[in-house]
Amino acid sequence: MRGFTRRSWLGGWLGLAAAPAGAQTRPAPRRPAPAGLLPLVMLDPGHGGADPGAIGPRGTQEKRITLLLAQELRRALEAGGRCRVALTRSRDAFLPLARRVEMAREQEAALLLSLHADALPGPQAAQVRGASVYTLAEQASDALAAALARRENQADLAGGLRLPSVPPEVQRILLSLMRQETRIASERLARLAIQALEGDVPLLPQPLRRAGFVVLKAPDVPAALVECGFLSHPLDEALLNRADHRTKLVTALAQGVHAFLGRRQVT
Ligand SMILES: [Zn+2]
Repeated sequence: MRGFTRRSWLGGWLGLAAAPAGAQTRPAPRRPAPAGLLPLVMLDPGHGGADPGAIGPRGTQEKRITLLLAQELRRALEAGGRCRVALTRSRDAFLPLARRVEMAREQEAALLLSLHADALPGPQAAQVRGASVYTLAEQASDALAAALARRENQADLAGGLRLPSVPPEVQRILLSLMRQETRIASERLARLAIQALEGDVPLLPQPLRRAGFVVLKAPDVPAALVECGFLSHPLDEALLNRADHRTKLVTALAQGVHAFLGRRQVT
């Protein structure tokens, strides 16, 4: 039996509310996925095309590492047979941040996992290393988180979220309900990812972090952004170039995603 999901009520309400009588520009209501279809995991390899992202001391480009990780994580997830997987980009091409968010919403993704590997300038480059997982927050958890989000968001200054045009007061209430539920689910996704990574992969001292990443702003798709390490640190750069280390990363992330989906499904 189909479960009681966020989209079967809040999404439906938003779709209905988006259709004032006689409106010619009625946005299509969000349709629940057909019964029996496995949940969709949207993987988002950061950067691409003219935007290389961070670049390591040995010249490793973040956009190449994130695409490799996404492709490897897709294989690991598909091998589990418990979800479908889509990528926001599967080649070296630029993709605006807002478009990445839209793709997750349009395809009714159960979650969005954005993959990155960052870099710090100056003396910090040789000191800071380890993976971390971010969820969305208006207020960054610390100065480092704020600086990283600024850098990622600069990839697309025009980034934003297109929402159905509903009366402002209705939109405010529905979005607030949706965002609250999505925020709780996103926090759980991030915690499960960190738990799975712990012990297998070097982590930042406080690996669960919050910042205003544009790519996490869908009001109805739980989302987390994984910084898989610091390309500016020689050890992390070397690890991210190693297939065995990436296998550890994607195995742990697949475990976190499976744990999230396992408890999310209601029968
Ligand atoms: Zn990045």
